[in-house]
Amino acid sequence: MKEIKNYINGKFLAPVSGDYLDNIDPSRGKVYSKIPNSTKADIDLAVDAAENAFPAWSNMPKDERSAIMVKIADLIEARMDEFAHAESLDNGKPVSLANHVDIPRAVSNIKFFATAILHYAAESHYMEGVGINYTLRKPIGVVGCISPWNLPLYLFTWKIAPALAAGNCVIAKPSEITPMTAFMLSEVCAEAGLPAGVLNIVHGLGQNVGDAITRDPKIKAISFTGGTSTGATIAKIAAPMFKKLSLELGGKNPNIIFADCDFKKALSTTIRSSFANQGQICLCGSRIFVERPIYEKFRDAFVEKVSQSKVSYPEDPEAKLGALVSEPHLEKVLSYIALAKEEGGTVLTGGERVFLEGEYAGGYYLRPTIIEGLAFDCRTNQEEIFGPVVTITPFDTEEEVLMMANSTEYGLAATVWTENLSRAHRVADEIHSGIVWVNAWLVRDLRTPFGGVKNSGVGREGGFEALNFFTEPKNVFIAKG
Ligand code: NDP
Repeated sequence: MKEIKNYINGKFLAPVSGDYLDNIDPSRGKVYSKIPNSTKADIDLAVDAAENAFPAWSNMPKDERSAIMVKIADLIEARMDEFAHAESLDNGKPVSLANHVDIPRAVSNIKFFATAILHYAAESHYMEGVGINYTLRKPIGVVGCISPWNLPLYLFTWKIAPALAAGNCVIAKPSEITPMTAFMLSEVCAEAGLPAGVLNIVHGLGQNVGDAITRDPKIKAISFTGGTSTGATIAKIAAPMFKKLSLELGGKNPNIIFADCDFKKALSTTIRSSFANQGQICLCGSRIFVERPIYEKFRDAFVEKVSQSKVSYPEDPEAKLGALVSEPHLEKVLSYIALAKEEGGTVLTGGERVFLEGEYAGGYYLRPTIIEGLAFDCRTNQEEIFGPVVTITPFDTEEEVLMMANSTEYGLAATVWTENLSRAHRVADEIHSGIVWVNAWLVRDLRTPFGGVKNSGVGREGGFEALNFFTEPKNVFIAKG
């Protein structure tokens, strides 16, 4: 059975404890590899390595850093298919999705920040007759990156790439549920000639490895993506040490469909925005609001199409949905379907597990589920489910739908469907969220600010926002004389 290793100081190491955890293939419900059950002792080694590597890495000319990073991206691209299969085996997602979304985006993340750093300029502020201020943007030092299981390599590289490009050395922890492509990335980094200690990837549990990263005073900044309660735990520990924090947290995103929308486009995109990656994308729209005049027509067409979506093993090229990431997560999602029924909801389609045959009989499959008839403020409509479950609700006025859309503690993303330009601007302006798509979903330009408001997070990733996060500004004033 394959045994993943930590990547510390350029070496592939067993955990100091010698303990390993099981890594489960969710499409079969079977253990298929072992991962290090690392502890603070491994983080200590990684921090020492990163501190030693920092002076040379941060002083390396930008174009040399950039070239090494581009090489890393090229090597992943050359192994695209292998990475996609590994991601899908680890996570349960269809291979086609990993091939079209996860791995290409990981490559783009690295290339984007490897080249963004070449165009990153600092500000200057001239004071007439007095002098000039200029701002230096220095890397922070040793930083921590902690990422979740839903888009494993995609979100891992989204943090690591700007951190490295800006000249920091990184201690990174992928989710222990999906560690495989992070391990493969460490192999690629070694092959690309990334200097030892610049990137250290330590595997293990959040409460051990994640916690040790959060508590280590030598790690000066933490970029975290994950659940809101984990984000709160990290913030509580890190705040008294005045660490810089970027927190990308949960969501309960509204998808608002007005009667004047392009019906076909709204319908087909809503199927994706509801169920892509088994609904396990923080940007998925899980609360669908449809304007009354088209409510029944939209609902019926949506239910009909979704009930035909094929739930299958990840290697099936026709699979629209694969397995959920783990058994506990499947149980959590099922418990929300039970709650929705208790709260008076009607399951229009889905609602139950799918049991495949043969070797996939133990996999964690769930039918895509649409629920109707719930109050906007019930728990099902307020709490993050993070699975293939959406609710559908009619509305009569713009004011009413904005009130319902803005009623949750979250504020990550929103989607609006309308052909009325003024309304599009108005609604986009009024929605409490960090990202709004009008007549589209998940169109991403890596230069744009990415993140949420309210309990969906603190700070922004993407473009120069990420480079600003991973650098400290220092203002220098020079008198004119
Ligand atoms: P978790 O918060 O459980 O875990 C995220 C990461 O934090 C994992 O690597 C986890 O390790 C680690 N971790 C867990 N406990 C601690 C701790 N005490 N200290 C430090 N690190 C810890 O989230 P999930 O992995 O379950 O991911 C799903 C969540 O992520 C959803 O809420 C989703 O909305 C959110 N998300 C947000 C995005 C955004 O951009 N806003 C994007 C994607 C997802 P381990 O796996 O070992 O527990």
